Amino acid sequence: MTKHYKLEHRLGYRILRWVLFIALLSGILLSASQVVVDARRVSSDLDQQAAQTLALVRDASTQAVYSIDEDLARQVVDGLFEQEAIQYAGITHPDGDTLAKLSRDPIPAEYRALTDPIFSAKRAYRVPLIRGAGNGTVYGYLDVSYDTAFAAAAWLERATLTFLSGVARAVVLSLVLYFVFHLLLTRPLFRIINSISRVNPDNPGDTLLELPRGHRSDELGLWVNATNNLLVAITDNQEKQADAEARVNRLSRYDKLTGLPNRELFMTMLEKSLEQHQRRNERLAVFCFGIDDLKSVNEQHGYHMGDLLLQTIADRLNDGCKSGTLQAARLGSDQFVIVRQHIKDGYQCAATSEWLLAEVARAVQLGSREVNTTATIGITLFPDDASDSEQLLQRAEQTMTLAKTAGRNQFQFYVASVDQAIRDRKKLEKDLQRALPENQFHLVYQPQINLETRRIIGAEALIRWEHPEQGLVPPDQFIPLAELNGSIVEIGQWVLEQACAQAAQWSAKSMPIRIAVNLSAVQLKQEDIVSEILDTLKRFSIPPGRLELEVTETGFMENLDSAVEKLNQLRNHGINIAVDDFGTGYSSLTYLKRLPVQHLKIDKQFIHDLLVNDEDTRIANTIIDLGKSLNLAVIAEGVETEEQEFYLRNRGCQLAQGYFFSKPLKPADFEQFIADFHAKLVVDSTHNG
Ligand code: C2E
Ligand code: CA
Ligand code: CA
Repeated sequence: MTKHYKLEHRLGYRILRWVLFIALLSGILLSASQVVVDARRVSSDLDQQAAQTLALVRDASTQAVYSIDEDLARQVVDGLFEQEAIQYAGITHPDGDTLAKLSRDPIPAEYRALTDPIFSAKRAYRVPLIRGAGNGTVYGYLDVSYDTAFAAAAWLERATLTFLSGVARAVVLSLVLYFVFHLLLTRPLFRIINSISRVNPDNPGDTLLELPRGHRSDELGLWVNATNNLLVAITDNQEKQADAEARVNRLSRYDKLTGLPNRELFMTMLEKSLEQHQRRNERLAVFCFGIDDLKSVNEQHGYHMGDLLLQTIADRLNDGCKSGTLQAARLGSDQFVIVRQHIKDGYQCAATSEWLLAEVARAVQLGSREVNTTATIGITLFPDDASDSEQLLQRAEQTMTLAKTAGRNQFQFYVASVDQAIRDRKKLEKDLQRALPENQFHLVYQPQINLETRRIIGAEALIRWEHPEQGLVPPDQFIPLAELNGSIVEIGQWVLEQACAQAAQWSAKSMPIRIAVNLSAVQLKQEDIVSEILDTLKRFSIPPGRLELEVTETGFMENLDSAVEKLNQLRNHGINIAVDDFGTGYSSLTYLKRLPVQHLKIDKQFIHDLLVNDEDTRIANTIIDLGKSLNLAVIAEGVETEEQEFYLRNRGCQLAQGYFFSKPLKPADFEQFIADFHAKLVVDSTHNG
């Protein structure tokens, strides 16, 4: 801004103009008066000079006139003409006759035009010629004219010098003044102006003006200090105002009793969360819950105690919200709401609801009394149940009201099917805890066949749960639950023992079958998993080579180093390792190289559409080729048709397992299957042979 400031507007420039003007004016006036005085002096000098000259030759001239001596007169006149300034000299009789005279032209000079009006072109002097002791008779006159040009030239030279020096002095003075002014004022002023332009209007106290160096205690310094004080004061004021606004804001947006956000603030927060979740394609849950018996607390113990109860519950909610994924607010008298972000499934919602119910159910100390309350919760999911905040909350409130009519101290989902599914899952989880002690599990075995030799080389042990009411529950339903609550560790150990016991039995019947057991990621994370497995093998006297562990990619990717170490230990003892569901997860060569793996299992999803879906065929081929290059045997799982078997065998896949050969079988059926399969093989080979 200052850079483009026009020169003629600058203070220094204006001062320069004024000083220059006044200095010039006064210089000119002073010089003029000096010149005038000089001119006067020159003028009187001329007169004086003339008077002296005339006085010098007066006697000789008188003598010449008196004795009518022309020669003398001539000498006088010649003598006078020695002075170059004399332009005319003459001695005349009173009657006008000239005794002697001389004259010459005035010297031509340009400056005469200027000086002649001042000094006149020539100056004429006349003295009457009178004898000293005489009676005063005038015998004649001596006339002399001076040409003023000579004196004028000298005067003019001096006058010019006077003027010029006067003007020069004025110019130098004003330049010096301008420079001093620039140094002392303009420059520091520009610095200050630059400083001011950098001040942040939102927070002026943040960047204060710089004090120009050397101006600490002069007016500029005072000015900068005063301005800085003002800036700081403005910031202070702004902060105070912002504080006050924030306080007012708080009062209007937060619930006075509990300090939780009120409904209005909650809605804005929820809207923001919804936008964020929409963008990231994530889910969110709203839990609307009411305290079941606030009214009776108020009636029995008074409103003050009711308030205390609400505050206590609000504090508990607040504590629970510290993790960041939960947001709590108070909607009305006995109603609260909690939002849980980044929800993966309804199951997580059920867990949050149970936590909420437990928090409310914990006894509250009201003075000397202990009070127990319960809550009822209505749950909606975004975006499943509603896509906008209003509807999401409204439906959660509706669901809560509905749930209250059905009973208290419970939660309910907005959509009945979700509600039912979650409820079923919760029940299944509960039932699962009784399954092991009540002997509801058993194992089935699915044969694994070598496609080239057509021999049964092993069996995969698969768990079955015979639920007392529901009948057979597939492992895909309960294994994830067991993994979530950790009971898979116990169940997995039971499976291993069961499989080992079976292997020992078959061994005794000279059926040396290798048994593959699925090892969950949760099991693999157990510190003592290696020793557990080795102990079990020892207890049943099973050689480690008779056991294969099927591990999924997710099983070791979560903690690769520790998984590699454990699997290596197992491998060093001779246990086989297979990568299960290969192709569905990371399928990275880097980890495969680090793992002590013997088998890759192509997941059944790729086998299912083999020869129908190009993409699946390509993946199956890739896995077979990968197995070849890494020298790992590949097992195709889920082989259901002859075409699939034929294709895989020709493509170079060595092992297979699937309904085409056999469904997973109970031990007795499995023994029968082996007998039949080998008998058939013998028949086949005799036919072929
Ligand atoms: P998985 O390890 O991939 O097991 C293969 C699944 O494919 C088994 O299902 C098996 O019955 C099924 N299957 C075999 N052949 C065919 C076929 O030709 N067609 C079709 N459509 N399916 C076939 P299952 O027994 O229901 O087990 C499901 C999953 O449950 C298993 O997948 C495994 O991840 C888990 N699981 C089963 N038993 C255990 C266990 O004892 N421990 C652990 N941790 N997980 C287990
Ligand atoms: Ca498996
Ligand atoms: Ca699989």
